[in-house]
Amino acid sequence: QSKPQARVEGSTGIGFADVAGIDEVVEELQELVCYLKDPERFNRMGTKPPHGVLLEGPPGCGKTLLAKAIAGEAGVPFYQMAGSEFVEVLVGVGAARIRDLFKRAKVNRPAVVFIDEIDALGAMRHTASARENVENYNAGAQERETTLNQLLIELDGFDTGKGVIFLGATNRMDMLDPALLRPGRFDRKIAVRPPRAKGRYEILQVHSKNVKLSPSVDLWIYAKNLPGWTGAQLAQLLQDAALMAVRHGHNVITRQDLDTALDRLTVGPERMGFGRR
Ligand code: ATP
Repeated sequence: QSKPQARVEGSTGIGFADVAGIDEVVEELQELVCYLKDPERFNRMGTKPPHGVLLEGPPGCGKTLLAKAIAGEAGVPFYQMAGSEFVEVLVGVGAARIRDLFKRAKVNRPAVVFIDEIDALGAMRHTASARENVENYNAGAQERETTLNQLLIELDGFDTGKGVIFLGATNRMDMLDPALLRPGRFDRKIAVRPPRAKGRYEILQVHSKNVKLSPSVDLWIYAKNLPGWTGAQLAQLLQDAALMAVRHGHNVITRQDLDTALDRLTVGPERMGFGRR
């Protein structure tokens, strides 16, 4: 049994133009794109890219988007799997999936391998004594450890400079097994954080390209007043506002549509009466 397989997207169709508000991160990742476009050039220069890059930060800040943008910019296949998809109770299944993933990426290199929720896989392993004592050290935990060990073996055996970039994403850095972070594994960490006001404005602008906004809408007002909001939340706001515009029979998204969508997102549908019959 080797299902589910990694989703492969030949070219993700996503580029850095789709990522806004986190320019420093994008800049840092440009090097990976250069590498994927011409790995040989790096090899000739005697330099190597990082083995694995860990994108770390709260949900919805654009980690998956960034990974897809790297593959899209370089025009290389993108292999995506979530850590939870490797975790099976059947012993050996997760490890087989890891082997399969690495094999396929190797054959089709240059390529990007992206493992989302890597904490599901790489959570701290139990010490031997904990294994004896912890009641819930069950078959599931054992299988997860086998899978994690397989990932470590594959990462160690993979020559840097062979045209595959490994990207991991987590919002539980504290949970990660330190073995994953050693040199030669996910040895570069990049923090992806919620954007500041200017970043929020840029994200709203990127996402407003797909919708029709009334000229009277000033996105800066929203950007300024939504501290802590992530890219995913801002994208959702515009999507919900578009829905409101349709409901209200508007041809364009008005301030009223945006404000209703905002109320709904901040106070929840119940209090707004949307959830009631
Ligand atoms: P999770 O930890 O839940 O997997 P994530 O950090 O991987 O979250 P994404 O899945 O990349 O977040 O973001 C969800 C969606 O939010 C994206 O597909 C995109 O539409 C929007 N988004 C998030 N961050 C940005 C950004 N910086 N610029 C533009 N859009 C963004």
